[in-house]
Amino acid sequence: MVSRVIPVEAFDLVIFGGTGDLARRKILPGLFRRFVGGQMPDTARVIGASRSDYDDAGYRDFVRSAIDEFAPSGRTEDRDDATLDAFLERLHFVTIDATGDGGWKDLAKLVRKDVISAYYFSVGPSLFGALAERLHKYGLADDDSRIVVEKPFGRDLASAKALNATLAEHFSESQVYRIDHYLGKETVQNLMAVRFGNMLFEPLWNAQYVDHIQITVAETVGVGGRGAYYDKSGAMRDMVQNHLMQLLCLIAMEPPSRFDPDSVRDEKLKVIRSLDPVLPHHIVRGQYAAAGDQPSYRDDAENERSLTESFIAMKINVSNWRWSGTPFYLRTGKRLKSRASEIAVVFKDAPHLIFDQEAGTHRNILTIRLQPNEGMTLGVTIKEPGPGGMRLMDVPLDMSFADAFGPDAEDVPEAYERLIMDVIRGNQTLFMRGDEVEAAWAWTDPIIEGWEERGEAPKPYEPGTVGPEDAQMLMMREGRRWREIKG
Ligand code: NAP
Repeated sequence: MVSRVIPVEAFDLVIFGGTGDLARRKILPGLFRRFVGGQMPDTARVIGASRSDYDDAGYRDFVRSAIDEFAPSGRTEDRDDATLDAFLERLHFVTIDATGDGGWKDLAKLVRKDVISAYYFSVGPSLFGALAERLHKYGLADDDSRIVVEKPFGRDLASAKALNATLAEHFSESQVYRIDHYLGKETVQNLMAVRFGNMLFEPLWNAQYVDHIQITVAETVGVGGRGAYYDKSGAMRDMVQNHLMQLLCLIAMEPPSRFDPDSVRDEKLKVIRSLDPVLPHHIVRGQYAAAGDQPSYRDDAENERSLTESFIAMKINVSNWRWSGTPFYLRTGKRLKSRASEIAVVFKDAPHLIFDQEAGTHRNILTIRLQPNEGMTLGVTIKEPGPGGMRLMDVPLDMSFADAFGPDAEDVPEAYERLIMDVIRGNQTLFMRGDEVEAAWAWTDPIIEGWEERGEAPKPYEPGTVGPEDAQMLMMREGRRWREIKG
């Protein structure tokens, strides 16, 4: 059932930060899976680069243990030792300091001129400038080379503009791939297929028929070892400005004229530019408290006076013809009751109820689940079977991928795998354009400045719950309810 695998062209992918956490957990296991899946050809090579003192053999051992630990299982019959060895043979390592000149000539000798070259900046953003400059200086990048950059892309509009300007000194926008791994998820792309490939939904996809939309990204983990880093960021910068904003854009955007990178990104940009400023009483910020022997947010962040939010819920208005009057409610937080990400499109009540009061009223809800168990469900109202008169009930029309694709569901590429293959194919559709990122910060900045100026403290909430009580009130005072967070 899973679509045909088309191998990408030969490539050299250099991972700056090839020894870091992201490379170990996501990038390298993801590449291995694409190799197993037949999409990464034997002619491709992956070159790790960082200050560490590995030779090729040492790096291959490092990657072998990363794959053992983090590679998703895949189909076991495809994952024999010979396949792993064949993948590891494609790997090389060069010791390089991004801020110095050692190692660059070795890298220049290694990278082939006659295949696609891609450079993954899996390092902190403070190194982007140094890397871009040296790629240029050592003749490593041509007009067709691609560079991949990770979040965070800035921490406000000014820093995002500065990063964009730094990259633009050496690369054109068509060469820059800003990753938001949420966009690589199968369901997120399916959202576009469902919206724009069917006649069924698009006529109803507007304020006339949709009561409201909820986007939830709930995590059970706290900030743990990332506390010091996270404390400078918070849920708004870490999740809303990028992941939730991207999901909102895909839900709210107009149909692009074509499924090409700029047509899609133009429409997403228009959505961001249509967002109203958010009123302070439409935002609830929270911070998880301690529970038993589990530390509080402030303990994790080692900052007893921290005003950073680990939870945020907000009501957003998209001011355009399609959505005026239909609010979007966003919430995300750590240490919540379950790990679950979903978008729920809640349709309005039928305009006139022909059944008795006892039959009850029901609303159609289209649920798009990103995790766990990726898939979509449409709640449809039917008659409760059996005798007892006309009583209504909701049944789900369920399209969870695991059910629809059976064992082949395991072969659906994970977000990072898909996105890296898109980089090699030169397809920027699922990557954020510079102006999109800047527009998102332009909307986010005044909100953050507002609560910083007012010195607002986030509301404490019990871990394992759905966040602060005020977040419930945000919906309830408008006669609506958050959906249950179910993992
Ligand atoms: P990390 O574990 O701290 O790794 C940083 C990498 O950069 C290491 O390989 C390090 O290797 C290398 N490095 C540091 N300074 C260097 C220099 N001067 N020259 C060359 N290499 C240098 O960080 P990470 O978690 O992998 O994150 C990498 C980037 O991805 C960050 O921007 C992060 O925000 C972003 N990101 C990470 C995740 C994640 O899940 N980890 C998720 C989303 C985004 P050496 O010490 O050997 O030089």
